[in-house]
Amino acid sequence: MVYKELATKGVQGLTPYLPGKPIDELERELGVTNSLKLASNENPLGPSKEVQKKLAEEIAGLHLYPDGSAHKLKLRLAQEYRINQDQITLGNGSNDVLELIARAFLTDKDSAVFSEFSFAVYPIVVQAIGARSNIAKAYAADNDSMPYGHDLDAILNSIDDDTKVIFLANPNNPTGTWLEPESLHSFLTKVDKKVIVVLDEAYFEYMPESLKPDSINWLNEFSNLIVTRTFSKIHALAGLRVGYAVSNSEIADLLNRVRQPFNVNTMAQVAACAALDDKLHVTQSVIINTQGLKQLMIGFEELGLPYIPSIGNFITVDMKRVAAPIYDALLREGVIVRPVANYGLPNHLRITVGNQQQNERVLMALDTVLNEPIDKSEHKNG
Ligand SMILES: *Cc1c(COP(=O)(O)O)cnc(C)c1O
Repeated sequence: MVYKELATKGVQGLTPYLPGKPIDELERELGVTNSLKLASNENPLGPSKEVQKKLAEEIAGLHLYPDGSAHKLKLRLAQEYRINQDQITLGNGSNDVLELIARAFLTDKDSAVFSEFSFAVYPIVVQAIGARSNIAKAYAADNDSMPYGHDLDAILNSIDDDTKVIFLANPNNPTGTWLEPESLHSFLTKVDKKVIVVLDEAYFEYMPESLKPDSINWLNEFSNLIVTRTFSKIHALAGLRVGYAVSNSEIADLLNRVRQPFNVNTMAQVAACAALDDKLHVTQSVIINTQGLKQLMIGFEELGLPYIPSIGNFITVDMKRVAAPIYDALLREGVIVRPVANYGLPNHLRITVGNQQQNERVLMALDTVLNEPIDKSEHKNG
């Protein structure tokens, strides 16, 4: 029996998501203990102390199922954004919400549009359904305003009669590039209301105030808009898996129909509420990130490495040659970063912004590795 043939066409064509290498795995392979992971855009500050306290109090109640409607978390989010609870769809991470959107709106007759160098989850959720991905060319590497950035005109031109969903990440992962609020607004006015626009704002809280779009308020103007956000990044809860979509209530109702009843667990619900209350943790995370981005940019300049300007908690740097051997050599230094060849960027590495010490370590490791003769590093590999 060849089970592959039994799988749906969509699943047969699927390439699985490649996560960042886990610390445990590297340490087992290398027999080292003090490795550093800057590969998955995790917050170096860790979760808020208030969140940790609330979680500890919750453990004794874990024999009970979670609140499937996540009443308290929805109430808290509704207060936070001045929206109605029926506009919210919660997910097991915002990845889950992205999949719910694909499942609710796409069939194998439909297409989805997103930019080249976009977040890797978009093609996966589209392909899993067997729908088509129309990939819009991004701005070129030598573009003056936004190298590698989403080209909104190219995205508009990629919409065809079958297009039901557009995915836009702002800022985008893995490039860190962003869309000006005015351009984004003007783009939304040009998209037919029959086409759902997913604005993925996983890094929203890291954005400089002047670049933050008024996306939640835009929901009143654009009935086809879905804004997604997450507790994984600035709130430092990636391990708990909780994210959400905000949309008009009709779309939220559809998404909630495909959602598994207990997709957000008890700990995640409790932690998310407490995280929204700890504004100081968010502010501190932004400060560490702003300083860290600056530190990395200066370091890359000293190393003679061009980088893509970023407003996320990561930055993608050009190794000026195939980056895979450099990635391997960094692993041997105990530093895990993220190769992005699978995104069509074989010469780049994506590096998560760490704290001051961690950034210093990755810069020093890069310096060491870049000064190793290439054949020597290959020899060490064998
Ligand atoms: C990290 C990230 C997410 C969020 O993932 P979670 O499932 O919420 O952990 C969503 N979109 C982009 C672009 C991301 O980089």
